[in-house]
Amino acid sequence: MSNAPHVVVIGAGAVGAAVAMRALEAGLRVTLVEPDAPGGRQAASYGNAGWLSSHSILPPAEPGVWRKVPKWIADPLGPLAVRWRYLPSALPWLWRYLRAAWTWPRVERTAHALRTLLRDAPALHQQQAAWAGVSELIEQRGLLHVFLNEAQFRADKRAWDIRRAEGIEWEELDAQALRAREPALDARYTFGVWVPETGSCRDPGRYVAALVSRALALGAELHTTRATGFHIEDGRLLAVRTEHGEIPCDKAVIATGVHARALAGQAGDRVPLAAERGYHVVIRDAPVGVHTSAQFADAKMVVNWTDQGLRAAGQVEIAAPDAAPNWERARILRRQLVGIFPELSRAEAVAGASAQAGLGDEADFWLGCRPSMPDGLPCIGPASASADIVHAYGHGHVGLVSSARTGRLVVQVLMGTPTDIDLRPFSPRRFA
Ligand SMILES: Cc1cc2nc3c(=O)[nH]c(=O)nc-3n(C[C@H](O)[C@H](O)[C@H](O)COP(=O)(O)OP(=O)(O)OC[C@H]3O[C@@H](n4cnc5c(N)ncnc54)[C@H](O)[C@@H]3O)c2cc1C
Repeated sequence: MSNAPHVVVIGAGAVGAAVAMRALEAGLRVTLVEPDAPGGRQAASYGNAGWLSSHSILPPAEPGVWRKVPKWIADPLGPLAVRWRYLPSALPWLWRYLRAAWTWPRVERTAHALRTLLRDAPALHQQQAAWAGVSELIEQRGLLHVFLNEAQFRADKRAWDIRRAEGIEWEELDAQALRAREPALDARYTFGVWVPETGSCRDPGRYVAALVSRALALGAELHTTRATGFHIEDGRLLAVRTEHGEIPCDKAVIATGVHARALAGQAGDRVPLAAERGYHVVIRDAPVGVHTSAQFADAKMVVNWTDQGLRAAGQVEIAAPDAAPNWERARILRRQLVGIFPELSRAEAVAGASAQAGLGDEADFWLGCRPSMPDGLPCIGPASASADIVHAYGHGHVGLVSSARTGRLVVQVLMGTPTDIDLRPFSPRRFA
């Protein structure tokens, strides 16, 4: 058996898989602990919109957003909603969420920190995908933001100014240029913004599964069980506790996405982590769609091609991770998708009954939980109870794109080597 330090990576989503890859590269012995299929439907990493958006640096909230809170509560089907029953437990998180973006200077600080985490993400994902033998999953065609008109884009000027100050460039497209790029769009869309430095992933679930397969082929082990805690003595980690006994180890990484709170507590840190739940719908044999993965400002959703078909992903629902899905939200995405591509609605009309019955639809609907910190920044760094345990969760809306850099950073922390970027903004203790 190797004498290399043994790290247990808890959770095999995009973050855990990236950590496993970098840990193997660094010569560590790696064990993954995951109760379900790596990259499977239970993980947020499975069904996201696939955006490798190195420009997604604005936190989800912005100054003045508190005015919208009554609407979020009153409209359970709005693009952002808080479930009534969950409101009392969500209030402290919501308060921090609003406060973290109370002023523009605060937003700018967050944007700067996120930019350091995301800057080279598309290239890092290409590296990872090549390592896993699935280079074809990472596309480098940039990403498109689609607006009804130029005024809608200018209304968000402050956010785009912050992006520009962080060195992000884009190309603005008038109606004709937009139409030339995306001929299938409904005529009501007359303005676009194309961000060339970005990329996308065609099948995030398969990507994560491929990373884990490669890690296993290189000697990592997979324990199909749930981690329940840690065995720590005098600040030294001795083992990770699981539902099937202890796994002795030298180091551990908490990469359990939205389920990280309990393990983080066992590692000595109370973190305000919540679920911002989102949905997707996939139309399998869509005759039309986007050429470049695109976000629609009016529908607040992303549309892209995946291996399964044309996917629309979006919606934010603040609720318990295990609360029952509200599939009406996925149906909204579906209706919006059909409204964006007129030809799709004609094809649907021909397909007729099966589409209207809505029964078969459910198979193409998915609900996932963004693991969200109120300030929009993940937790990356050593734990209070033992420096042998590293936090790596809370990536919210940008967990796929930021997973690659996170993997590198976590291994740098584990090895005690200098980190690529300043980790202070990501400290798990920043809300203590
Ligand atoms: C609708 C939607 C669209 C999105 N679009 C994008 C996008 O375009 N780009 C982007 O960058 N991000 C996007 N995101 C966010 C992104 O999907 C998440 O931030 C990211 O997948 C989180 O990855 P993770 O590895 O931390 O968590 P997960 O992928 O959820 O993985 C955590 C894993 O831990 C396992 N686990 C849980 N508890 C335990 C335990 N006790 N022991 C062992 N294992 C455990 C789970 O089974 C799971 O497999 C989107 C999210 C949603 C919902």
